[in-house]
Amino acid sequence: MDSQLHIFFFPYMAPGHIIPATEMAKLFASRGCKATIISTPANAPHIHKAIESSTNLGLEIGVLPIRFPTQEVGLPEGCENANSVTGKEMEDKFFTAVTMLDQPLEQLLMEHRPNCLVADIFFPWATEVSAKFGIPRLVFHGTSFFALCAATNLFLHEPHKQISSDSEPFVIPNLPDEIKITRNQLPDYMKDESDSELSDFLKKVKESELNSYGVIVNSYYELEPAYADHYRNVLGMKAWHVGPTFLCNEEKKGNKAETGKQASISEQECLNWLDHKKPNSVIYVCFGSMANFDDAQLMEIAVGLEASGKQFIWVVKKGKHEEGVKEEWLPGGFEKRMEGRGLIVRGWAPQVLILQHQAVGGFVTHCGWNSTLEGVCAGVPMVTWPVSAEQFYNEKLVTQVLGIGVGVGAKKWARLTGDSLKREAIGKAVTLIMEGEKAEQMRCRAWALGVTASGAVKEGGSSYADLTALIEDLRLQRNGCGSK
Ligand code: UDP
Repeated sequence: MDSQLHIFFFPYMAPGHIIPATEMAKLFASRGCKATIISTPANAPHIHKAIESSTNLGLEIGVLPIRFPTQEVGLPEGCENANSVTGKEMEDKFFTAVTMLDQPLEQLLMEHRPNCLVADIFFPWATEVSAKFGIPRLVFHGTSFFALCAATNLFLHEPHKQISSDSEPFVIPNLPDEIKITRNQLPDYMKDESDSELSDFLKKVKESELNSYGVIVNSYYELEPAYADHYRNVLGMKAWHVGPTFLCNEEKKGNKAETGKQASISEQECLNWLDHKKPNSVIYVCFGSMANFDDAQLMEIAVGLEASGKQFIWVVKKGKHEEGVKEEWLPGGFEKRMEGRGLIVRGWAPQVLILQHQAVGGFVTHCGWNSTLEGVCAGVPMVTWPVSAEQFYNEKLVTQVLGIGVGVGAKKWARLTGDSLKREAIGKAVTLIMEGEKAEQMRCRAWALGVTASGAVKEGGSSYADLTALIEDLRLQRNGCGSK
């Protein structure tokens, strides 16, 4: 009964979910499992690209298509990724299309009968669908233990309902540390009781999580031990930590992440630019794949960066204008003045490659969990600028628990368009993580955490061991001797 385990991975259609789920699939494949990633057609090419080096090494990892019902819900053809969704109406349609994936998933499970389904938290119906075939379903949230603990305790105790003001800080109950947050910083979906569809969905999410086989976490024990313990021992969740998953690329390509997405700047160009800079002299500014800022805010960032006097790489999700056409979000002559000092990447940057370069000494981040982990592993202090999702929780982990970052002062959870901040706040926060004794202390702590991350995924490390335990568990489960 020792035949190969077959694991299905079904990530939500957004880069921040597809990237780590694909890395997770590679991790399982590197441990002798067969891994299959379920993907809609438009997302599949990126995944194929991201797994290329693993399949070339002979690992068993593939992609299985699932049709996304764009036509049925009235979305434009090819709109299969949350990062191409604009506006509430489109968002609702996207969400409806997502809920229609249950039947096609059932079909795939029936045909292939994998031994486990790792499905995204956004697919609550996946627990029930996989139960029909006796397939254990693992939940993947794509975030930290810290955020999972914070969100669960808020859900259970609802302290935000006892506070009269949106801006009054209150303590998140029950956590190992005293962590304060305001109602303004909580996601809309926690506050809006008028949306019954949404609260139904959230109830289903919670139920599906509780009825699932367990939770798989892209984190490592040494980063947040008190929260890993709290999640398991106090909140009673069955969880395995297997991250940082992006380090699965380490041995093959010297830590180069394989997101499968075409960067807007060649890796060589980036490296050439960085190679000419002194260690820890460049700040990297990027807000992930979803967050957006309006032109006025981009202008504040530009002016703040210029005034800081620091060298920078700044990723902006904008196309290049024609030569000579003024871009409204940049001060006149900005790029000319910044030549050699600042590099703007319009579109997609090779983030991990940049962060890992010795010239990069700081990171302005929106605290998406993947970016946060990538920053930690690169050993860089961070300026935290959370925007939406669970990013305000991650900010508290970075600034209050780990002590490796400084908040820029974002006060309001804002769906996809970031809270507006002034140039002075930006310049000040950048200076605080790049200069002086405090910055050096943060850098040392971040560096030490990065070293433990590498150890965690190596043989003998905590994440390596937890993955071994999970595989063993799934094997027992398949052979009919499982614990659940
Ligand atoms: N990313 C990248 N280049 C970019 C922007 C983002 O490689 O220009 C990657 C980043 O390294 C991370 C992911 O996209 O792995 C973003 O995930 P995260 O959880 O940080 O944020 P989200 O996009 O989900 O808000």
